[in-house]
Amino acid sequence: MNEGTDYDWLAARWTQIRERVDAACREAGRDPAEVDILPVSKTFGPEVIRAAVALGLHRFGENKVQEIRSKFEPLADCAIDWVMIGHLQTNKVKDVARLASEMQSLDRLELAEALHRRLQMEGRTLDVLVQVKTSSEEGKYGLPPEQLPAFLDTLRDFNTLRARGLMTLAIHSTEPTEVRGCFRRLRVLRDQAIAQGHHDVARLSMGMSGDFPLAIAEGATELRIGTAIFGNRPYPDSYYWPESTNGS
Ligand SMILES: *Cc1c(COP(=O)(O)O)cnc(C)c1O
Repeated sequence: MNEGTDYDWLAARWTQIRERVDAACREAGRDPAEVDILPVSKTFGPEVIRAAVALGLHRFGENKVQEIRSKFEPLADCAIDWVMIGHLQTNKVKDVARLASEMQSLDRLELAEALHRRLQMEGRTLDVLVQVKTSSEEGKYGLPPEQLPAFLDTLRDFNTLRARGLMTLAIHSTEPTEVRGCFRRLRVLRDQAIAQGHHDVARLSMGMSGDFPLAIAEGATELRIGTAIFGNRPYPDSYYWPESTNGS
């Protein structure tokens, strides 16, 4: 690989998004050190990810477990933490239990049970964020907000799963107040959960390339950023999200 030349664009984009995030933090009166970026590498291959590792990145989000599986071996020497952020079918928990360091899209009890069983077999634990549905948009996955308190209580029974926070996808809308309302809902749910004794669920994974300043203003601790780092994807978002028609 021709380091230092081929991937200058990636270094430039990474610097630029970090600067935009820092600026949005200052605008919101927040300390930039409180807001992490999770690079979302879906559709990009091992070579690009390796170049991102060379920039100092070591956690990557993937929407499909098949992509974690196919990139894991070629990048095994990079010691990457793979983070699952997409919808997972219950019959596909095996590779997440084996290969992922974290799962941000835990959205139902059946999935928690299946992951727990598999993690016990693997002798592993997994940090999880609970994905909550904060908009009424069709086709968005996530636990209904009213079920969150009971769900968090139940998760305590699964000693392989460590609940660390909440995750959401905002409504796809050109109306900032609607998008921001989704982020606010997640923060309020998090604050309520903590008040109810779930002190470990402090993290808020919310905000993407197109809406992250609003998420920062509402308290995001982690942004899931794909396009703004890696560029446009070769597939439309409908490949990842049913009913979604355009990218951000
Ligand atoms: C692809 C994806 C992102 C990142 O989207 P961008 O708009 O490219 O930043 C964030 N979260 C999830 C769940 C995704 O699938």
